[in-house]
Amino acid sequence: MIYADNAATTKLDIDAFEAMKMFLLEEYGNASQPYSFASSAKRALKKARETIANCIGAFPDEIYFTSGGTESDNWAIKIASGDGDIITSSIEHHAILNACSVMEKKGKFVDYIPVSKEGIVELENLENSITQKTKLISIMYANNEIGTIQPIKKIAEIAHKNNCFFHTDAVQAVGHVQINVHDLDIDLLSASAHKFNGPKGVGFLYVKRGAQISAYLNGGGQENGLRAGTENVAGIVAMAVALEKNCNCINENRKKIKKLEELFINELNNSGVRYIRNGSEDHIPGNISLSFSGIEGEMILHRMDIRKICIATGAACDSVNTNISHVLKAICVPEEYIKGTIRISLGKDNTEQEIGVLTDELIKIVSNRDFV
Ligand code: PLP
Repeated sequence: MIYADNAATTKLDIDAFEAMKMFLLEEYGNASQPYSFASSAKRALKKARETIANCIGAFPDEIYFTSGGTESDNWAIKIASGDGDIITSSIEHHAILNACSVMEKKGKFVDYIPVSKEGIVELENLENSITQKTKLISIMYANNEIGTIQPIKKIAEIAHKNNCFFHTDAVQAVGHVQINVHDLDIDLLSASAHKFNGPKGVGFLYVKRGAQISAYLNGGGQENGLRAGTENVAGIVAMAVALEKNCNCINENRKKIKKLEELFINELNNSGVRYIRNGSEDHIPGNISLSFSGIEGEMILHRMDIRKICIATGAACDSVNTNISHVLKAICVPEEYIKGTIRISLGKDNTEQEIGVLTDELIKIVSNRDFV
């Protein structure tokens, strides 16, 4: 099996798994309990919070553990906008878009600003869209379908100049690109462990000190009273291990994945196959969105699957929805190419040999030399 769908999820890191096991089988105490058996879980939570904060340039008390990217995004959109309006982009993940549409049903105004052909938010456009009522600007750090990275620092500057909160859905970016939330002046940031070799169902929301944000889940006093529920200690500990490991090798991984990406693109170019590469120069390493004409992305996916190669058509979270991706529409992929779009997302565990096989098989399929 060749796994080339790392934007959908990643393999759990072995050290993260080992760390997790201990808190499931041995140190299973409830971190809120006062007896000494629970102190190991409590200490582990504290350490995980410090590790995660350190990885993104935050303070530990700015990290709130959640169940993943979707919850963090919902928290930011539904709570941080207060009684004000929201500006977001037309290419956000559905965790943002669908949370926004709930807010619209409640009477809030949401402005979905367009993006360039590369998938980049145009800053002038953003600035012109801000009104006196705008309270929250939420623009993703990197897009899950095409990998485009946004000019985050400049967006934060515009938001603050206009007294708005700035949230970024950094689910695709955390653990893959260097992020310092204080340098970038981000108010809120969403992350999800399973995108950086941590377990599924755990993530965090970074909330800048002093940002007035109210509780998302009401119940016990966990997470400073803002996100109630017994902590997923095993998941949180594993998330911290995975994130620290990835962050320690971020440049090394980036270099390796970039090389694999170049190998793939060179082979594809040498084959003479016609295609469009979607996204921008500045993108998440290994996120390769390609559009072909005369063949459907779904057909390519199934034929690759027969050869035990995992790739995606658009966003994995959208696999039941056969509508054309809102991201590809927003960046104006030509009509005859749009349905023939696939996403290959390479990871640190992919090898040059795998890239060779993947490219050969893809070329056969898209140039109709495939007789399966
Ligand atoms: N935001 C982005 C950009 C994503 O890619 C995803 C998942 O694919 C999510 C949010 C949702 O994250 P989770 O799967 O942790 O709920």
